Amino acid sequence: MEKREELYKGKAKSVYSTDDPKSLILVFRNDTSAFDGKKVEQLDRKGMVNNKFNAFIMQKLEEAGVETHFNKLLNDQEALVKCLKMMPLECVVRNVSAGSICRRLGVEEGLDLNPPTFEFFLKNDALGDPMVNEYHIQSFGWAEKEHVLKMKELTFKVNDVLKQLFLDGGMLLVDYKLEFGIYDGRVVLGDEFTPDGCRLWDVETRKKLDKDRFRQGLGDVVESYEEVGLRLGIKFD
Ligand code: ADP
Ligand code: UDP
Repeated sequence: MEKREELYKGKAKSVYSTDDPKSLILVFRNDTSAFDGKKVEQLDRKGMVNNKFNAFIMQKLEEAGVETHFNKLLNDQEALVKCLKMMPLECVVRNVSAGSICRRLGVEEGLDLNPPTFEFFLKNDALGDPMVNEYHIQSFGWAEKEHVLKMKELTFKVNDVLKQLFLDGGMLLVDYKLEFGIYDGRVVLGDEFTPDGCRLWDVETRKKLDKDRFRQGLGDVVESYEEVGLRLGIKFD
C-alpha cells in the first residue's frame, strides 16, 4: 500500500490517499484540541495510544456486526481504512448527563438518562458544531432519510456493545460521538472511537478518564487514556 498525498489535515488526524482509490491512511497525531480548536496542545504518545485504542474498539464493533471503516494498523500512528463519503454530522448518545447538555438545558452533571438521549450536531467548526434535527438534515441535504435512520440504529447498537465492554473494565460510558459515511451505498462507521470523543468515568469513584481531563486542565491526559486501554486489555508497549 503506497501512501500518497495529504488530502486533509484535521485537528487531531491527517488523511492521506493511497494507490487504492477505495482506501485511505489515517494518521493519529499528538495534537489535542478542545473548544472548537481554541485550546491546542501536543501530548506525547497520544497519537499512538488513540490509534491502537481505536483499532481495538473498531474490531470489537465489527465482531458485534457494526460495519466500520477500519482495515488494519500500519504502524504506531497510522491505520488503513475504507474511503468513506462522510456525512457532515456527529451522532451523540448520552447515558449520563455531562458537557454541553448540562450547559444547554441547565441540568446537573451525573444524572442517569433513561432512556439514553440521541442528538445530531452539524460538523462545522466556524459555527461551533450546532445541534440540528432530522428536518434540518433532510431540508439541507446533509444525509438521506434512510441513512439518518441507519445512523441512529447503529449508534444505539454501539451503545449496547460498548456500555458493557467498559463496564466490564469498571468504567461508565457517559456519552460519545460517532461519525458515519457511505461506502458502496452502505452506512459505515468512520472516524474514531477513542477517549478524545467520549466520556468515561470510573464506576466507583466517578474519576474522569477521558478528554475532560484536557478540557478541564486536570492533567494525566494520555496516562488516563492508557489506563482505560489497559483495563480493556489493550497492549500499547
Ligand atoms: P476534524 O475534521 O474534526 O478536525 P480530525 O482531525 O479527526 O477531525 O480529522 C479527521 C477527518 O477525517 C474528519 O473530518 C473525518 O470526518 C474524516 N474521516 C474519518 N474517517 C474517514 C474515512 N474513513 N473516510 C473519509 N474521511 C474520513
Ligand atoms: N464530541 C466530540 N467532538 C465534538 C463534539 C463532541 O468528540 O466536536 C464528543 C465529546 O467528547 C463528548 C460527546 O461528544 O463525549 C458529547 O459532547 P458535548 O455535546 O457534551 O460537547 P462538549 O461539552 O464535550 O464540547
